Amino acid sequence: MTTPKTRITAGILAGLLLAGCFTGCFFRKGENDKDPDTPITITDTPEEDPAGTLTPIVTPENPDDPASPADDPAQPTDPVTPIDPVDLPTPVVPDPGTAGASDTPADTADTQADTPAEDGGTHVTGIRLDKYIVAVQVGKSDMPIVTMLPSTALDVGEIWTSDDTAVASVSTYGKITGVAPGECKVTVRSTDNPDVKAVVDVMVVEDQDVIHVKQISLDKYETTIQVGLMDMPWVTMYPTNAGDKGEIWTSDDTAVATVDKYGRILGVGPGTCTVTVRSQDNQDVTAKVTVNVKIAEVVKEPTYIDGTLIVNRTYALPKTYNPGVSAEAKAALDQLIAGASEDGLEFWVESGFRSYDQQLNLYNTYVGREGKDAADRYSARPGHSEHQSGLAFDLNSFDDNFDTTPEGKWLAAHAWEYGFTLRYPKDKEDITGFMYEPWHVRFVGKELAQKLHDSGQVLEEYFDITSVYAD
Ligand SMILES: [Zn+2]
Repeated sequence: MTTPKTRITAGILAGLLLAGCFTGCFFRKGENDKDPDTPITITDTPEEDPAGTLTPIVTPENPDDPASPADDPAQPTDPVTPIDPVDLPTPVVPDPGTAGASDTPADTADTQADTPAEDGGTHVTGIRLDKYIVAVQVGKSDMPIVTMLPSTALDVGEIWTSDDTAVASVSTYGKITGVAPGECKVTVRSTDNPDVKAVVDVMVVEDQDVIHVKQISLDKYETTIQVGLMDMPWVTMYPTNAGDKGEIWTSDDTAVATVDKYGRILGVGPGTCTVTVRSQDNQDVTAKVTVNVKIAEVVKEPTYIDGTLIVNRTYALPKTYNPGVSAEAKAALDQLIAGASEDGLEFWVESGFRSYDQQLNLYNTYVGREGKDAADRYSARPGHSEHQSGLAFDLNSFDDNFDTTPEGKWLAAHAWEYGFTLRYPKDKEDITGFMYEPWHVRFVGKELAQKLHDSGQVLEEYFDITSVYAD
């Protein structure tokens, strides 16, 4: 995919389609009547675009996001829009200003320490732009988005100049307008500290000319994945208004990793290879990713501590561990559902047992939409999902706001009475390794459930164990 925005949006929409379920489900929201054993395959993505032309979309929930390309007006169209953006996971937005291009001023600007001003405030020590390459047609304009660093600086005034106003002019607030074909540099300085500046390379073309790709930035230039798992770097092509931002992906060793036309890199065998993305528009413009592929440690036995099965980022289940839904957990859940119904509340299972292969498919689907770093926050890698234990259930909703509903409140208050623990509480992401999931309960038996409830601890705290992936 071409731009981070496009990719993020597609990921969000995909997340919604998948009901945003996280360690999660493989159901689509509103399709709970579908066969719950239908895994989603990695080919099932809304971003598959046979024409290879992907429309940049400004994320609807954050129109003021400074990372939004200024030259990309919000596109009203998307095949799967009418979804409330409130229950979206927050996407990780790579900063185009720092995403690549090691020769850009952003790299140094970001690292500078705050300088206290004599008046007690903070002075500007760096300037970051959302783009350092701008191309416009004669008579057209573009405007980089400026961030003065540090964010605590008091005087964030800007001084804009063009070194060749016969090629491009620039307004006092940074709007760059093409005057005549050619190249020039536009500089923005801090009014607070004129030594601090950022420079934009400006190209002006005839008003009917196509704007060509000059540079490709990625959100990462190296990745480590396991055999069978995926990653997908986010691509930004500059100028962002280039006419053809199509990508051509290749791997120099497909025995180590393959890459598809969307940039989804799949680990095939142990080793290191280089994956290259080229601009379809200008094949001399490339970016490369070093891909390290490792074989996952083979897990032979599930881990029990004091009789409790542990599944998290540190402790995986064997690939062959395939028990189905635990009868004991199901019986306890039936009691929970009956108890809630006496209080006039209704619970149902959105997602229960998932096999290793189903989780593999699900995880790779998320990675193929948002990249590995984002997917790792909410989707467990295969072997690391509690759903594979047969002891975990996702109930009712995959919406963070489930905890504000009567059912969500009841679950938080009463699940322990039936032997369940809310496995991924708010503000414990660093401990459990997973985002808040008010809908995910894990059967641990009444005795332990009460201890966890009374102490407010999660399993990792109670057993003093970690939840961290090995790589
Ligand atoms: Zn779950």
